[in-house]
Amino acid sequence: MLVLGLETSCDETAAALVEDGRRVLSDVVSTQVDIHRRWGGVVPELASRNHVMQVMPVLHEALTRAGKTLDDVDLIAVTSGPGLIGALLVGVQVAKSLSLATGKPFVGANHLEGHLLAIRLLEDAPEPPFLGLVVSGGHTSLYEVRDYGHYRLVGSTRDDAAGEAYDKTARILGLPYPGGLPIDQLAQKGNPEAIRFPRALPGADNFDWSFSGLKTAVLHHVKKHGMPEGQALADLCASFQEAVADALSRKFIAAARRLGLQRLVVCGGVAANSRLRSLCLERARERNLKLFLPPVRLCTDNGAMIAVAGYEAWRRGLRGDFSLSADPAWRM
Ligand code: ATP
Ligand code: MG
Ligand code: FE
Repeated sequence: MLVLGLETSCDETAAALVEDGRRVLSDVVSTQVDIHRRWGGVVPELASRNHVMQVMPVLHEALTRAGKTLDDVDLIAVTSGPGLIGALLVGVQVAKSLSLATGKPFVGANHLEGHLLAIRLLEDAPEPPFLGLVVSGGHTSLYEVRDYGHYRLVGSTRDDAAGEAYDKTARILGLPYPGGLPIDQLAQKGNPEAIRFPRALPGADNFDWSFSGLKTAVLHHVKKHGMPEGQALADLCASFQEAVADALSRKFIAAARRLGLQRLVVCGGVAANSRLRSLCLERARERNLKLFLPPVRLCTDNGAMIAVAGYEAWRRGLRGDFSLSADPAWRM
């Protein structure tokens, strides 16, 4: 079954063609970060307008690179939530229009399920049950995945998402948006023990995180010591990154042990982070747990993960109809 995945939930316009939810034929992502950077974050109205302009060229590029036409497509999968309402509506309308014009079926896919199911694109993909940590720009959520389609939320952030903490900290430090990659790169030249930042761990009796205090600690540090430059900036980034990776991996591994799960998955944009990847791998190995990580390219938003989520939803019997709308707060 050839699935077209369309993604327009935030600031990436993406389309991909995936065979049977496992084999990527093409995966095209057009990012709007250059447009939003001067505002220091995503401007919803600008995002919607740019999706309108980019979605058809991106779709054509995905078909061309795969050597396919719309005739070859068996199912159209589109992100219908969660995300920015105006941005989501662009993708949903395009999916419905394509379906109307071609007679092909369509299905709404959950963006977070997409992040999680990106792991299906690994050669050696984990079978459920597993523990899935979604760490992205808008979410830090821990799911017990009993089976595809059966997700139990066991923990989440009480305030800022991990990606949001990166983006806000970058803003404090005068680094470009989105802040994840620039902080990650600077951190690799810094000393993670230079500054002891608070860990985002509100108690050991739950699986929650809290990142807003960490961002405030960075702000206080800058107010007290001045805006860091050179090595001091690298040290601050490394110390911040260590605090995020330590808190995320520590509770993640503890939760796996408490829930008796042997397989672990980390996904979402922050799963691209070099330190989070290495620390999770190290701590999982120590406990004899098996950690699965999507390749970095599949951590941030893309159409392939939506094709997989749509394919799995279709297999569960889900069908889109023309009353499908966008749900900006859709819980998985
Ligand atoms: P959501 O998936 O919650 O709706 P989103 O789609 O905007 O939010 P993603 O595209 O999954 O988020 O991820 C973007 C986030 O990932 C940004 O906050 C960005 O700073 C962060 N990020 C990207 N690369 C890295 C990295 N190497 N280290 C840390 N964070 C990163
Ligand atoms: Mg994005
Ligand atoms: Fe995302």
